[in-house]
Amino acid sequence: MKVIVIGIDGGTWPSFDRFSGSMPFLASLKHGSLETTIPTGSAAAWTSFSTGKNPGKHGIVSWETKPFSGKIATSRDIAARELWDMLSVRVGVMCPPISFPPKEVNGFYISGIGRPSTAEEFTYPPEEAENARHYIEDLNTLESVQSGKAFEAREKIKQMTENKVSLFLELTKKYKTDFSYILMDENDRFQHFFWKDESALMDYYSLLDAQVKRICDENRDANVFVLSDHSFHDAPTKHFHINTWLANTGYIKLTLFDRIKILLYPIGRALLGRFIHDEPPAWMKRFIPHQETIIKNIQEKPDFIGFNNFSLFVKNKDKVGEIVSKLKDVKDGDRPIFTGVWQKSEVYSGPLNENMPDIVFMMDSDYAINTDFSPFLLSHVKKTPWQGYHTFAPDAIITAFGPDIKESPAKARIIDITPTILHMFNAAVPEDCDGRVMTEILKDTREVKRSKSSATVNAAAREAEDELVKKKLRDLGYM
Ligand SMILES: [Zn+2]
Repeated sequence: MKVIVIGIDGGTWPSFDRFSGSMPFLASLKHGSLETTIPTGSAAAWTSFSTGKNPGKHGIVSWETKPFSGKIATSRDIAARELWDMLSVRVGVMCPPISFPPKEVNGFYISGIGRPSTAEEFTYPPEEAENARHYIEDLNTLESVQSGKAFEAREKIKQMTENKVSLFLELTKKYKTDFSYILMDENDRFQHFFWKDESALMDYYSLLDAQVKRICDENRDANVFVLSDHSFHDAPTKHFHINTWLANTGYIKLTLFDRIKILLYPIGRALLGRFIHDEPPAWMKRFIPHQETIIKNIQEKPDFIGFNNFSLFVKNKDKVGEIVSKLKDVKDGDRPIFTGVWQKSEVYSGPLNENMPDIVFMMDSDYAINTDFSPFLLSHVKKTPWQGYHTFAPDAIITAFGPDIKESPAKARIIDITPTILHMFNAAVPEDCDGRVMTEILKDTREVKRSKSSATVNAAAREAEDELVKKKLRDLGYM
């Protein structure tokens, strides 16, 4: 038996269907909806796919090992065995997000966007690196777009998509893989930069569709799952200044000195802006107030509340319930800004719950979090090179077909895919998987086998690679 998972990062049916004339293959497939993780970011979502678990068990909620740690997560930080670690058949893994250093698997493994660069040893076995470098390169779309080379950037992403499929097909043949997985994160990249450009999208989607079809045509005997990790939406037009809200509601206590620093912040930022390409010297950081020092000061206070674009960390746990209900009521005129606000226990469970934010939320996609203090709660977003976002984009896609599949699921969760594939290969499903085997989509009716927990000890070892990876993530607007 053969199974192939084709991950289309950021793939979304409404957008694909607008261009169905250019995407005959995907248009012809059953359109199932896939519930993804919170947050709807690639790192958390694809790791939930590969482990069948929620982030409270695998530990990956963003690109960092822990929010605010400044440490980029590596493949060693995934605290659960992944599908390819559990299968005993021949496997091939191409470019998942949290995938450096490459894992030793029974087959091949190529590190994806979380790798520092292709100059590193980014493949397993290592001797594949040289050949892989002919196909895979590190893209820097932001730089190209900003220097007026948008068209070249488009062509590069197209080329990369095609090259990746070529390498995937070459390696799956060479290693005679039974299970293989390819993540086309180029779609996410393309949509970030060209979401509002109809002709660019049509052009890219047509190539993407042809490449997905190419994989399927060359593997007619395979069971295929096509899925995405989140959908996409237009760039937000309004910023919600969450710190201003927290200060106004009394959850952040500011001293007079803090308030003066906040007033000086725009000046400090303008001054530091001159050093944007170099890290500002430490002495300057100490004297000129900027966001980092303001955050640090607040962090050191006992009532510290931290944040990122989808969550809050609350030091005083007694306040969590209160903040959740107040956030639910935040409105812009009559329009609620938050579409969902939850305490962590409602969303995450597992041994790594400690690392998870205390409050997570989804916002109306026209809004984004801005951590700058501001005289107003809301402000207009300045134009950026990113035309599309997926911060609040929970509706992913799924379709499945092949000799062992009875019907494509109309609905599924991203955590259900790994248990289902384990079962298809007659492997046991770990008892602590959150996902379930979708027996109803399979022809075979045998019973599901269970095994003990697939949790692993999380051994962190990384340093110098961090900066390079961060630079690449900034390219995708993640940092
Ligand atoms: Zn993604």
